[in-house]
Amino acid sequence: MENCLFCKITKKELPAETIYEDKNILVFKDIHPKAPVHFLVVPKKHIESINYLEPIDKELMGELLLVAKKIAQDKKLKGYKLVINTGREGGQLIDHLHIHLLGGKPIQMP
Ligand code: AMP
Ligand code: ZN
Repeated sequence: MENCLFCKITKKELPAETIYEDKNILVFKDIHPKAPVHFLVVPKKHIESINYLEPIDKELMGELLLVAKKIAQDKKLKGYKLVINTGREGGQLIDHLHIHLLGGKPIQMP
């Protein structure tokens, strides 16, 4: 998708501090961390938000969660929070689906 920041990052047209990559997923550090650990788990496929998920994306969504779990365990987080903001009122600023992985301190619900 043209002019999508996270598409550009997943295609390496823009830089990011990559933590993990596979065929379908890129994980990188959030540029404005809200916790000691703040990663973004991002599908390479452009999906605008949870509202645009289709049945064909079922497996990909499972992969995103498994990658989030693997990274949290690799980083030995004692606990963590996974957040998917959806829509402007839901706090979504970047219109490319992503899971925030937050940890390294107790994370409160908003
Ligand atoms: P959201 O509000 O859920 O759409 O989250 C977007 C997140 O992307 C925010 O936490 C931003 O700090 C983060 N962000 C914006 N631009 C970049 C970037 N170039 N590299 C890494 N993270 C970014
Ligand atoms: Zn995109």
